[in-house]
Amino acid sequence: MNVAVEKDIAKVGVQNSSEWDVLIVGAGFAGLYMLHKCQQRGYRVRLFEAGDGIGGTWYWNRYPGARVDVESMEYSYTFDAELEQKWSWSERYAAQPELQRYVNFCADYFDLWPNIQLNTKVTDAVYNEATGSWRIGTENGVNTTAKHCVMATGFLSSGQIPNFDGVDSYQGETYLTSKWPKEKVDFTGKTVSIIGTGSSAVQAIPLIAKEAEHLTVFQRTPPYSIPLRNEPLNKEFEKLVKSMYPEWRERQRWQSRAGFIAVNNEPTYPNDKSAIEVSEKERLADYEMRWRSGGLCYYSSFVDLLQNQEANDTLAEFVREKTRQRINDPELAELLLPRGYPIMAKRLCADTGYYETYNRDNVSLVSTKSDPIEKITARGIVVAGREYVSDVIIFATGFDAVTGAISRISVTGRGDRDLNDHWEGAPRAYLGLISTGFPNLFFLDGPCANGALVSPMLLSEHQVEWVDRCIAHSGLEEGASVEPRPESEDEWMVHMHEVGKDSLLHKANSWYMGANIPGKPRALLSYLGGLENYRQQTEAGESDNYRKLVVSKVA
Ligand code: NAP
Repeated sequence: MNVAVEKDIAKVGVQNSSEWDVLIVGAGFAGLYMLHKCQQRGYRVRLFEAGDGIGGTWYWNRYPGARVDVESMEYSYTFDAELEQKWSWSERYAAQPELQRYVNFCADYFDLWPNIQLNTKVTDAVYNEATGSWRIGTENGVNTTAKHCVMATGFLSSGQIPNFDGVDSYQGETYLTSKWPKEKVDFTGKTVSIIGTGSSAVQAIPLIAKEAEHLTVFQRTPPYSIPLRNEPLNKEFEKLVKSMYPEWRERQRWQSRAGFIAVNNEPTYPNDKSAIEVSEKERLADYEMRWRSGGLCYYSSFVDLLQNQEANDTLAEFVREKTRQRINDPELAELLLPRGYPIMAKRLCADTGYYETYNRDNVSLVSTKSDPIEKITARGIVVAGREYVSDVIIFATGFDAVTGAISRISVTGRGDRDLNDHWEGAPRAYLGLISTGFPNLFFLDGPCANGALVSPMLLSEHQVEWVDRCIAHSGLEEGASVEPRPESEDEWMVHMHEVGKDSLLHKANSWYMGANIPGKPRALLSYLGGLENYRQQTEAGESDNYRKLVVSKVA
């Protein structure tokens, strides 16, 4: 045992047979904040990260054009006032390299590096009922034990390449957007094919088109995409936000619906009116105002947009009409326009010149809606009997979202129960934080919480603080454990499905529903109650001395 560890044990002052008080899996924003909290408590803590750098999604997603589509001033840690003032973003929406610089800056600032272990992919976790601790195994053979284990594995971290017939026979270069190489990929003079038109693709396509000899886009479902309107960060806006950060953050937390309040460089409140009860003039004024602002601010538009088809249709038609104007060829526009599913029922995309890219001579679209990709050959992609020969295929085909990363770890809880069995049909977790039968195991940004529909930064900070208090409450002693009462988990699942049952999300085949992965049970994976409501529910979960949980102590 090293000196630092001995010192930490003295500080915590408990007997614990585990090697670590807390083992965190994943070095994204959530895992790093969890590490910071544990360090502040003086715990013996370790963070295992599969990659050779930190940042989670912003470490892996290095494809051309990768940038966050939540405003930088709102997509940053909110828990440290000094950090907020110290850091300056260069763009309204930070690009991947800047986000990586930020995350590394934070790791330095909070002195997190000594407890981060890179290149360590967790493969399994087994609960020991006698000691109330977890044994954690890794791909490189490092095994360890920890009293508490926090899965900060991300909800968009398990990239997927569909099992196309012949995919392994392809002889050209292949790339997956979510596992992009660190070195620049040069497309100059190459014919490139890209499969997929979700958020990753709409960011990558305009930049790849500028470089490639020819780009062919294989689109199954046309997305709804809003211009992002990225620009250098407006200094007046930065000054305004920094002058009122505490108030700004409180409004993000409690009065925002989705965790962001900036629209047209002003703080705003969500629109609590119905889209169909206001006059057409008022409705269009709201949509136009948000179109000018750009990005995802439609999530704070009329309150019934994701509940009422008629309301949703008004926005869908508005966006289709605006989109039509961006595409020169009317026939092509008809193929690119999204129809047949509600807007925002798949995650809204935000783009920079996506539709205008199809006005270029070196870009073509292949719709695979009625003629799916038949196979991949040594030379390219076959659709409707035609082979599209390419030097490069890019898979922008998304993620086994929300549950994918956790499900790939073999997790065995009380009574040898496998977590994937507990989650069969649909994931279950009290408040999205902890599952019955899996004591001392916490999920950040996991299923049954609302990471998918609110700013992940705000959600995960709130969850980290909840987990931090819960660990402190249950303790570190040998034999101590915490888990939800079965009825608490049941109640939460009933509540989650009740809140989500009328949502228009059910009407689209999206990763929100697990519907993008063949064979994955179709189920609502996230809580749709909004950030404020989730915060209230989790606070209630701590009331009356955590009566919703079973906290067992050593006899
Ligand atoms: P995605 O939205 O799931 O898009 C995957 C694309 O691949 C879809 O167009 C999908 O078509 C297509 N596809 C999948 N399997 C296919 C198959 N077998 N045949 C043909 N096409 C297939 O994935 P993503 O673009 O990586 O984005 C995922 C999420 O990550 C986003 O929703 C967003 O939350 C997040 N993200 C955020 C940013 C940002 O902040 N700027 C950037 C990128 C990603 P279908 O639609 O028909 O299934």
